[in-house]
Amino acid sequence: MAQRTFSIIKPDAVRKGHTGAVLAEIEKAGFQIVAIKKQSISRAQAEGFYHVHKERPFFGELTQFMSTGPIVLMVLEKANAIADLRKLMGATNPANAEEGTIRKKFAGSIQENAIHGSDGDETAAFEIGYWFAGYELI
Ligand code: GDP
Repeated sequence: MAQRTFSIIKPDAVRKGHTGAVLAEIEKAGFQIVAIKKQSISRAQAEGFYHVHKERPFFGELTQFMSTGPIVLMVLEKANAIADLRKLMGATNPANAEEGTIRKKFAGSIQENAIHGSDGDETAAFEIGYWFAGYELI
C-alpha cells in the first residue's frame, strides 16, 4: 500500500544547484511527487518544524542554517516511502553515508547534508501537516 513521507531539499543543496539532480534521484527510486514548493522559511518556522530537537546542542545552528536560503518542500509517495527515502538519503553524516546515496553525492557536512526525510509514521504526519494544507495534497 502506498505510503507518504515528507522531504526537504535543504538550503545548501539548493544553493549549489543540486535541486534537479536530487529530484531525479527521488523519481528514479520510484517516488511520486504528490506536492512540491520552493520557499524561504523563517527561523521561527524552522524552530517549530524541528521542535523535537530543541534540547539538542545543535538546535540553534540547525534552525539558523535552515533559514539561510530557499528550500524545496515535498510530499512523496510510494510503497514503504518512509524507510525507502531514509535509505536513499544515507547517513546523517555524509562521511558515513553509503555510495550512491543522496548525502554521499551532495552533502557537505553533518549539518549541511542536502536532504531531510521523515523518520517515522507520526513524524511524517506532523511534518506534512506542518507545511502543506489538505487541498494541496489532492
Ligand atoms: P536525520 O534524521 O538524518 O536528518 O538526522 P537527525 O534527526 O539526527 O538530525 C536532524 C538534522 O540536524 C540533521 O539532518 C542535520 O542537518 C542536523 N544535525 C544532526 N546532527 C548534528 C550535529 O551533530 N551537528 C550539527 N551542527 N547538526 C547536526
